[in-house]
Amino acid sequence: MRKTIIAGNWKMYKTIVEAIELANGLKREFFKLDFAAVDVVLCPAFTALSEVAEVLTETGIGLGGQDVYWQDEGAFTGEVSPVMLKDAGAQFVIIGHSERRQFFSESNETVNNKIKAALKAGLTPIVCVGENLQEREAGKTFKVIEDHINNGLVGISGSDMLNLVVAYEPVWAIGTGKTATPEQAQEVHKFIRDLLKKNYGSEVADSVRIQYGGSVKPENITELMSKPDVDGALVGGASLKVDSFSTIVAKASEVVK
Ligand code: PEP
Repeated sequence: MRKTIIAGNWKMYKTIVEAIELANGLKREFFKLDFAAVDVVLCPAFTALSEVAEVLTETGIGLGGQDVYWQDEGAFTGEVSPVMLKDAGAQFVIIGHSERRQFFSESNETVNNKIKAALKAGLTPIVCVGENLQEREAGKTFKVIEDHINNGLVGISGSDMLNLVVAYEPVWAIGTGKTATPEQAQEVHKFIRDLLKKNYGSEVADSVRIQYGGSVKPENITELMSKPDVDGALVGGASLKVDSFSTIVAKASEVVK
């Protein structure tokens, strides 16, 4: 039985004061909800991690970074290590987000290094995979997913896979308001699970949580969550407001209760 996981990617939004305000607002809403059936994770910018960690103390709400470097320390100006993320209070880290692949030239190889370093430090990686519009229109969706999964996860053991979350994020649906239909999401999630089955066997594949990401909002979460291989959501824009993110969590909880 896979526990639903809903994560909010705050991207490069929110000053420290704003992040504390949002985290407090969400905490207040979540107290009113019974969200025990769902893992909730907030991923603020690096600068706000430790303050948000403090707000989330003993709430059961998880904290994640949005990226990580693969060395523990060293002369790598501008980078943040897995040890530093842990030190700031994070348990999770988003790796290979399409914005990092697109704007910062992340490759499957760097994604793979980051996943290994995160796992070694005891962080749970949320590994993003997904095709862009051109690739979808050219009928290359499965080929791209296969490339991201097989090459991004090279050398990751079956037992490590149990501490890892996959996020299927079609690039054409991120921040565009266009959501994949629940059927499109299910088709790719099933493809990912079958790939994991081939690589790691059924027991591991059936345990790995696969989130959907791409314009998830209160209006579409229920339909998406009703698909058998959709185990949660990675939410960008709609995670920046108390109302929309808490409604997404509440609706996801309703589906799995
Ligand atoms: C994301 O940032 O991972 C994302 C899915 O963004 P949005 O929900 O805004 O499309």
